[in-house]
Amino acid sequence: MEPCNTPACQSARELFHELEEYYDEHNLYFQTIGSVLEAANLLDVPHRVKLILTQPKNEIMFHLPVQMDDGSWQLFKGYRVQHNNVLGPYKGGIRYHPEVKLDEVKSLALLMTMKCALARLPFGGAKGALKVDPRAISRAELMRVTRRLTAALGSNIGPDYDIPAPDVGTNAQIMAWMADTYINFAESSTKVTARGVVTGKPLEFGGSAGREKATGQGLVFVLEELLPGMGMQVEGATFSLIGYGNVGSWTGRLLQARGSKLMTVMDHTGAIQNPDGIDADALSDYVKQHGGVQGYPAAKAISTEQFYATEVDLFIPAALEQMVDLEHATHMRCKILVEGANAPTTPHAERHLLDKGVTILPAILCNAGGVTVSYFEWKQNRQSETWDESEVDARLRKVMAASAQRALDMGKRLNCSLRLASYAAAIEHLNKVYEMRGVFP
Ligand code: GLU
Repeated sequence: MEPCNTPACQSARELFHELEEYYDEHNLYFQTIGSVLEAANLLDVPHRVKLILTQPKNEIMFHLPVQMDDGSWQLFKGYRVQHNNVLGPYKGGIRYHPEVKLDEVKSLALLMTMKCALARLPFGGAKGALKVDPRAISRAELMRVTRRLTAALGSNIGPDYDIPAPDVGTNAQIMAWMADTYINFAESSTKVTARGVVTGKPLEFGGSAGREKATGQGLVFVLEELLPGMGMQVEGATFSLIGYGNVGSWTGRLLQARGSKLMTVMDHTGAIQNPDGIDADALSDYVKQHGGVQGYPAAKAISTEQFYATEVDLFIPAALEQMVDLEHATHMRCKILVEGANAPTTPHAERHLLDKGVTILPAILCNAGGVTVSYFEWKQNRQSETWDESEVDARLRKVMAASAQRALDMGKRLNCSLRLASYAAAIEHLNKVYEMRGVFP
């Protein structure tokens, strides 16, 4: 096969050669760093900054022995990748998924660096993962693996150093076990602030109002900021969703509350459609009971192909990476692709959609609501404050609107896609801080 000659591939290849790193053009990390470097090349960024961003600072890998309920032992593989901390402590979720791989965690950590920089949060980027299917083990086993993982992370995490949060397959309960384990190891003089080691905790245990819905809420704020300039409104817009977990279901419910109509949904159990609209609230209750959208009575089952081909204003992937590939993109009939998930679109699909005139609102902009409210939680923990939901929402709207404007302005300045513009706005900020701090020694 011909080597890929897009600016993104060329930029990544150049740096990988210099670092004598193995590369594979289909690898998610190669692709993600490729578009980050393509954006950096549109700016006047010193080579050293590109070198630094091309590799994470730390990649930690664990093998954790845990005893299961039946007395047998299992060895679980865990990762924490700390990509960059020039702006502040490493920050990013921990995902539990049976097929997770190091390169995927590296990509997600890099995206966290970009996300926090675009939103101007005082955090760097990280991501963690445990290779486990959380649905396939008992609650007691889930608690034991979580505590074992937290103990193994040890001083590699901390409220001033690296702050995990929920991601795919993890939730507030898992964060509570992580915080509790960490506090048990903490010095007595730091036990009060030690809970700030993770965000996305339950409300009763140092969590923030509005954190659970935050990613969906942030995405809606971005749409409210950007759609009018594209000749559209949230009210009356039709949309489809991939994924009906935390991000998908909150996005569905919040958009519906603002007058948008949910046409189709696909998740790991199947795809459903209703031309008159699917009630996002009723579907959320159904998914809580049945574990997925399949069988939801007020919609009809459709094929994957029909799902992608449904005509909608907004197509919103809110599940795992790479779910929109070239094959799917050729069927898609939407005006705007709104990335609720991290890295949901392959580079081939992206090129095809841009050529078709579809606008792509990139993940580091659209799904930054989660980490932004994580920042609010961390701040409230440090100051022993409790903000109510309206205060959290007002602050979140401000951050999301400012990030959206930053991306738009950069897009105009560089005459490029919003993805490249969002990366460029993030890199310009990171570069300024590197200029001021210098690179040690
Ligand atoms: N896992 C979420 C993300 O990918 C949230 C991260 C956080 O709150 O630190 O953005």
